[in-house]
Amino acid sequence: MSNLTFTMIKPDAVRNGHIGAILAKMNEAGFKIVAMKYTHLSPAKAGEFYEVHKERPFYGELVEFMSSGPIVAAVLQKENAVADFRTLIGATNPAEAAPGTIRALYATNVGENAVHGADSDENALREANFHFAGTEMFF
Ligand code: UDP
Ligand code: MG
Repeated sequence: MSNLTFTMIKPDAVRNGHIGAILAKMNEAGFKIVAMKYTHLSPAKAGEFYEVHKERPFYGELVEFMSSGPIVAAVLQKENAVADFRTLIGATNPAEAAPGTIRALYATNVGENAVHGADSDENALREANFHFAGTEMFF
């Protein structure tokens, strides 16, 4: 089991001014920032990141949304990071997200849902390496 996860603050939350509040939630929950950058994904890069969802009906919309404005990408460290972070962000659809979770507080709808969280240790590593060089991570 790894103690790392990967997250993005998505374009909707950036546009709505929630970067600071979302980072505070991560800190309060005990996550340490290992890597972080403010960046803007091209449609090609967003498509590559979400390649696993290529056959899903929402893929085109997702790629368009994720490349629609800047994001904050980060690698976070904590014991049981992947599962604990998924609990902190809440369900994919904010209407179903538990009260107090980041998506319940800051997401707009099931597509524009404020944050990404890796769903496995394997994907957390893949996603961290997709966005960051080894020299940009500080353990
Ligand atoms: N998504 C969407 N419509 C859906 C399901 C997902 O637009 O019906 C988007 C949403 O932004 C979600 C992302 O696709 O966060 C990836 O979907 P996944 O099922 O992996 O949800 P997550 O792991 O982000 O909770
Ligand atoms: Mg997912």
